[in-house]
Amino acid sequence: MTRAPAPFWIVKCPDCSTEQTIFSRPSTTVNCSVCGATLATPTGGQAKLRGEFVRPVSA
Ligand SMILES: [Zn+2]
Repeated sequence: MTRAPAPFWIVKCPDCSTEQTIFSRPSTTVNCSVCGATLATPTGGQAKLRGEFVRPVSA
């Protein structure tokens, strides 16, 4: 699946498998709300994911 340029992505935590919706272009590191693991890090553009990309969210 391609990482479509959607405003939000659903990402699965690599540590606890929780699926979370995150902003695709974050300005700060995104952490799992359950276990605190890093899900995505900012790059200035689209986030670099540590978690597993599930699907884009268009709305
Ligand atoms: Zn987690």
